[in-house]
Amino acid sequence: MSAADQPATDPSSTESRWFTEQHARSGSSFGLRIKSKLHAEQTPFQSIEIYDTTDWGKLMIIDGCTMVSTRDNFLYHEMMSHPALFTHARAKRVVIIGGGDCGTLREVLKHEEVEHAVQVEIDERVTRLSEQYFPELCESNKDPRAELLFIDGIKYMADCEPESLDVIIVDSTDPVGPAEGLFGAAFYATCHKALKPSGILVQQSESPLVHLDLIKAMRSAMRFADFTAVKTLTFPQPIYPTGWWSCTMARKGADLSGFRERGAATKQFETRYYNADIHKAALASPEFMRVALGD
Ligand code: SAM
Repeated sequence: MSAADQPATDPSSTESRWFTEQHARSGSSFGLRIKSKLHAEQTPFQSIEIYDTTDWGKLMIIDGCTMVSTRDNFLYHEMMSHPALFTHARAKRVVIIGGGDCGTLREVLKHEEVEHAVQVEIDERVTRLSEQYFPELCESNKDPRAELLFIDGIKYMADCEPESLDVIIVDSTDPVGPAEGLFGAAFYATCHKALKPSGILVQQSESPLVHLDLIKAMRSAMRFADFTAVKTLTFPQPIYPTGWWSCTMARKGADLSGFRERGAATKQFETRYYNADIHKAALASPEFMRVALGD
């Protein structure tokens, strides 16, 4: 950072402490100036750190990777939930795999047509720490429609009753460690079986700028698992590598060309990023993705 970037009125800034995530794959890094480290622990699944930052609120780190910040999580949680739910005609039963910070659950439950939302998070400590440091993300945890389970999402989906779900949201960490098995055809086959006809799977699909090969592999594995339509939507997410993220939707026995535009435009709940125009814009593929993915 050049001296010009230093806040001129903050002489202590040269001594500021920073959390920095180095992203080897893209030869890039991202940092936030911090006030203090609030918590650190090793769970049976991963390490979790919580920081207080000077400008981005609280910051959760899992295995050294940025997960959630107070300031920008709305971008991700809204785009992981509302495009799929406004594409579906009327989603009543939703399952979230991962999502332990509970931000996606909160967005899903803003949809009054949802009758049951199950969050299947392998690591209970993520949720307990989110309740402590990100209480605003957990405000729907006591909703009578919400059910929080702390088990492996791979096993949950394998045991799920056939044709019982309308939407599955995979809000997991990167495809390593406990999340690795969530990015392959075997898992997608269990999702396909669990979904009703016209059901939708949506999964966080990393950065379109540096993970296009992963997105391609995910989409072909989804098609191999008999999903008839796939579509990748992009959105900003500053704290993740490259600051540009994506989610990929896959549909069982129907297409993904349209969505309930009027419903999105007249929605009765607050969002800070998602609206009908953003939904439409996110469906437009940048040229490099159109060429690479055939969208
Ligand atoms: N927004 C973040 C991202 O895109 O990287 C994900 C946030 S959420 C904290 C990710 C969660 O996925 C973690 O809490 C992790 O414990 C959970 N997870 C990873 N593998 C899982 C699995 N097999 N079953 C259930 N949850 C899993």
